[in-house]
Amino acid sequence: MQVIDPVCGMTIDGDKSAGREVWQGQTYYFCSKSCQEKFRATPDRYAKKAGDHRHAHD
Ligand SMILES: [Zn+2]
Repeated sequence: MQVIDPVCGMTIDGDKSAGREVWQGQTYYFCSKSCQEKFRATPDRYAKKAGDHRHAHD
């Protein structure tokens, strides 16, 4: 499964990601622990950018 690291924009394999975070019902994958930590510190900053094109039904 190919996913995009929302912090650095890198395409990674979701099964081999360094970490994942569930935020507002959505799972995000990261290439490294440092990207995961950045996301955890300010998830809204990164998650909005990644999900901008989609309109979540929540
Ligand atoms: Zn990254």
